[in-house]
Amino acid sequence: MDLSSAEVSTGLSAVLLASQLCQKVRRDLTSGATIEKNDRTPVTIADYGSQAIICKIIRENFPNDVIVGEEDSTELRRPERKNLLEKVTHYVEDFYPNTSSREVCEWIDFGTHTVQKRFWTLDPIDGTKGFLRGDQYAIALALIEEGIVKLGLMACPNLYLDRDHRNGKKGSVFLAVRGKGSFQMDMEGERGKRRMLSVSKVGDPAKASFTESIEPDHADHLTHLKIAQRLGMREPPLKMDSQAKYGMVARGEATFYLRVPSPSEPGYKEKIWDHAAGAIIAEEAGGKVTDLNGKSLDFSCGIRLEKNRGILASNGILHEVVLKALEV
Ligand code: AMP
Ligand code: MG
Repeated sequence: MDLSSAEVSTGLSAVLLASQLCQKVRRDLTSGATIEKNDRTPVTIADYGSQAIICKIIRENFPNDVIVGEEDSTELRRPERKNLLEKVTHYVEDFYPNTSSREVCEWIDFGTHTVQKRFWTLDPIDGTKGFLRGDQYAIALALIEEGIVKLGLMACPNLYLDRDHRNGKKGSVFLAVRGKGSFQMDMEGERGKRRMLSVSKVGDPAKASFTESIEPDHADHLTHLKIAQRLGMREPPLKMDSQAKYGMVARGEATFYLRVPSPSEPGYKEKIWDHAAGAIIAEEAGGKVTDLNGKSLDFSCGIRLEKNRGILASNGILHEVVLKALEV
């Protein structure tokens, strides 16, 4: 696959359109229109809407491909959820006028397949808590063949484009193709403005910085802190929701992303859609991504990374050093 493949242009249009839907839901949430603030309705609407749009586009362009997405329409089809389904349909209609609620459910369910030799995996909104807070979230889509991620796309509508202008333009879109590099664009996804990414060159652990989840239930922050101390690191962790963390490693703003399973669920197996797109984006920028035992991530086992435990995505240079610090 190369950067001009149909998979790339199709996937890119799909995540960009879905991002627009998510941003619209987010704006309506802030303005108090149509959706309530204190429940999960907005994230649910955006989740379903995003999956519907992305699955429709992939299915139209690649009718023989299957999609393994996070959502399905079971809940949405219940009579008592009629209101919710109408809201989702309303947002989808902004992009595809005259779409029926039945079609919305069908499109969502294009994404309910099982893992095969070649498949797409989708997290329609990764970092739902970030989405609600107005922080980071990502629309993450990846194409996997024989257990290896071949293409990764990730739209982060709230992530600043340029580290030198953190209060400047928001909205970073990441694209990586196996063997062809990792790139960043703005939310218009314009070809001419693609910037090639590369990981940080930091080789001294004391000068390294790392990123981790905000949610304490998603990772073991105490262990992360111990590792950082062992390595003599001085910078506090960059806490961030969603796979935007992989983007921070890819563009050299964090030396590594660490995800040790949280003590609240030590046996947790990561979901494939939470890592596929992000992992290739970090790798193609020159980074290394493995589990905590140094094993490569195996995306062929089903919806979870059954053969892996935790995640380390690094600039490569410090990978072994961090893994060693984890052994103590
Ligand atoms: P983050 O934004 O890095 O905190 O990760 C968000 C993702 O964490 C969600 O998409 C969930 O699929 C995933 N998640 C849910 N429960 C856990 C858990 N116990 N450990 C690790 N990840 C989890
Ligand atoms: Mg997720």
